[in-house]
Amino acid sequence: MNVTQCHLCASKSLVEVLSLGFHPLADFFLKEHQLSEMERRYPLSLLQCQDCGHGMNSYIVPAEVRYQENDYSYDSSNSRVSIQHFSDMAKEIWKRAKLKKGDLVVDIGSNVGTLLSAFQKLGAQIQGVDPAPNIAKLAEKNGILTINDFFNASACKKILKKARPKVITMTNAFNHVSNLNEFMHDVVSIMDKNSTFVIELPYFLEILRKKHFDVVYLEHVSYIGVMPLVPYFKKFGLTIEHVEENDYMSGSLRIFVGFGKEGPSVAKHIALEEKAGLYDKKVWKKFAESVRGCKMNILKELVSARERGGKIVAIGAAAKGNTLLNYCGIDSALIDFATDASPLKIGKYTPGSHLPILADDAIDESVTDALILAWNIAGLLKKKIGSRHPTLHFITPHVVGS
Ligand SMILES: [Zn+2]
Repeated sequence: MNVTQCHLCASKSLVEVLSLGFHPLADFFLKEHQLSEMERRYPLSLLQCQDCGHGMNSYIVPAEVRYQENDYSYDSSNSRVSIQHFSDMAKEIWKRAKLKKGDLVVDIGSNVGTLLSAFQKLGAQIQGVDPAPNIAKLAEKNGILTINDFFNASACKKILKKARPKVITMTNAFNHVSNLNEFMHDVVSIMDKNSTFVIELPYFLEILRKKHFDVVYLEHVSYIGVMPLVPYFKKFGLTIEHVEENDYMSGSLRIFVGFGKEGPSVAKHIALEEKAGLYDKKVWKKFAESVRGCKMNILKELVSARERGGKIVAIGAAAKGNTLLNYCGIDSALIDFATDASPLKIGKYTPGSHLPILADDAIDESVTDALILAWNIAGLLKKKIGSRHPTLHFITPHVVGS
């Protein structure tokens, strides 16, 4: 479905600020028998609303295709960094929202339940909601009660039978929602004046500042800045009570929404966004130019490594890595295989580029170069893999990595 109006303010004044070509779903890792099947590709470009500043993809793949037609491959419990992050997050929310033992916490897009399990340890009653059948099964196995559905009126009814949630969380999921007005209407229907809605997601400003163009993929419907959210939440009688940044996913925003007063952190972030040119077309034009430069640099590095005769591996089969591979047109002609730690990905193939995904220990002496796709954990990966292969040359996409 082509996007013709802003998801937040319904304005039809949308301008394309970045075009990345046609892509398959970034989280749709393929099994061997699917390699010969026709792969669906969709246009991937970033639009910006000229009225409120909201960022969004130009095309929405139906949510059922995104989450229910194939096994969803992201498992929030497969890295120690994530487990620690969600544990710290639960503690912070506990304090800010003044949670008490026995209060209900609902997590929308709860995945395998990493965040909820941290709340459970603190003494909360928990309820997850996640549409992906394979992921909901894993959560239930871990003892995390999960409604295996989209967050909708029927899920709300089930939640209210239990209790009215004191806290509703959503990590890296608000930006995946197709219809944000219908969605917020449902969220508000289960809140009361003491409830807090907490969302965390990659910060639109960080995407611009660090040139993280590969965070743009089809599963991400929206890119979130603070300024467009203020009038959007106001429509539902809500305010942003507090907003803060953290390093998760290389730059995330954590937003506390409720019926209280707007916090001073809101104006502070809007000022930062305006100063950086987040809502300035000229700034985005420069961004698009540097993305093209990034593509040329990566291709040059890979071609020269190939000419030296070595084997090349891509490390960390993250969804964003697929934007990078497909935008740059990288396939098995340039990279021999990819590696990942997740059992949900090992044995499968990357979408579009069809690189086989193996475990990290498949990297042997014949591999000379490694393109880091999961650049948000580049430091960790270099340490872990570099200690076993001291001569391995790492290529970090210069525009996006560090
Ligand atoms: Zn708008």
